[in-house]
Amino acid sequence: MTTTEAFRSRALAWLEANAERVGADDPAGDSARGYDADLPGSRRFQKALFDAGLAGLTWPKEYGGQGLGVEELLAWAEVSVDFVVPNAVFGIGHGMIGPTLIELGTEEQKQRYLPPMLSGEEIWCQLFSEPSGGSDIASLRTTATRTEHGWVINGQKVWTSGAHHSDFGAILTRTDPTVPKHEGITMFVVDMRHPGVTVRPLRIATGAAPFNEVFFDDVEVSEDAVIGQVGKGWPAAVVMLRNERIMLGAGGRSRGNPLGFDRLLAATRGAGSPAGSARTSDGLAELHARELALSQFGRLLHEESLAGVPIGSRGSVGKLAAGELMLWASDLAAELLGEAFLLDSGLAGMRYASVYAPGHAVAGGTGEIQRNIIGERILGLPKDGGVDKNVPFNQLRFG
Ligand SMILES: Cc1cc2nc3c(=O)[nH]c(=O)nc-3n(C[C@H](O)[C@H](O)[C@H](O)COP(=O)(O)OP(=O)(O)OC[C@H]3O[C@@H](n4cnc5c(N)ncnc54)[C@H](O)[C@@H]3O)c2cc1C
Repeated sequence: MTTTEAFRSRALAWLEANAERVGADDPAGDSARGYDADLPGSRRFQKALFDAGLAGLTWPKEYGGQGLGVEELLAWAEVSVDFVVPNAVFGIGHGMIGPTLIELGTEEQKQRYLPPMLSGEEIWCQLFSEPSGGSDIASLRTTATRTEHGWVINGQKVWTSGAHHSDFGAILTRTDPTVPKHEGITMFVVDMRHPGVTVRPLRIATGAAPFNEVFFDDVEVSEDAVIGQVGKGWPAAVVMLRNERIMLGAGGRSRGNPLGFDRLLAATRGAGSPAGSARTSDGLAELHARELALSQFGRLLHEESLAGVPIGSRGSVGKLAAGELMLWASDLAAELLGEAFLLDSGLAGMRYASVYAPGHAVAGGTGEIQRNIIGERILGLPKDGGVDKNVPFNQLRFG
């Protein structure tokens, strides 16, 4: 037996003993709920996964990871597809902030933050977007001002997923307004329990409040909270956004996805398809093909990224395709299931995911922004003029 096969058997045995199998029914739609899911249950599950040596598969061993390779990562994706893995609340830490700290963090930061992030003891959020705009992150206005002891942060962030559960955040701030906007930014680790941090929930159409507005009033951070270097927050943000796009676009296929092929196939069998069987077959075949294409592309990006091959802007292709697939699958489900889509009590999770689909397409950067990136950096189309690129931030005109 190869080491990958041995790993696969161990992972499968653990999942069979510790996780629920994804059922054909869709009672709670837990896989769609993310931040709304049972938090103590998610923490228990993640701790057990960590203790079993199944968390942070490709992260270095010295920071709590397993030091395994892409084959084991892919084996995990394949075996876990049949199980409910309730760890969405840790996604930002594990998929975005952890990899950024591994690439840019100091040794002390890695030792301090990565193991409790992996074990689910500490939850993280990403504090990038602001009320003045999320697409143009480099125009951010939250400031960090140097003091005798470190820095003081003032300002506001918005759409911060999971801030209400978080112990720490990675925040982008303006530390030098006298230089062009991309050059005066610094990223910090901020303690979300600091008394100057106020988190207010934002409720969405599903009824849940997965994200928040977050206010910073004289929040002190020390010098060693800088992620990367002072004034180099923009390149650090690019690293994190690259990881975010891999995470959002290159996730494996999941039988638990309420808008995925397996669920829609079961639902059309249960409800009978008012749109007719030929249309149902065509729609399901296309859904299956699009899911497979996306998961193969995701596999390629994971393989290359772990092998140190620069994936460049191709994460934007996966992110765009994943966002569009959710929107399209949601329309397809409504078309094929008709009334049952609205009324069947067994399809609550599908409805929930459908209402959430537009948000999924916007999170991590809208389709327009991904298209701009693909056009300019992959297809070589002419670049946006960027009239504000070389102007000091404090001389820019807003509003
Ligand atoms: C579910 C969800 C979770 C999120 N979680 C987080 C989080 O945890 N942390 C965080 O920091 N942010 C988070 N966000 C915010 C998200 O990153 C932003 O909403 C997104 O980047 C868009 O920014 P905006 O909402 O400010 O829209 P704007 O930037 O104001 O854009 C408005 C519209 O203009 C278009 N547009 C803007 N600029 C251009 C351009 N140059 N070319 C063409 N079209 C353009 C956009 O595509 C969009 O349609 C989340 C958002 C959602 C929906």
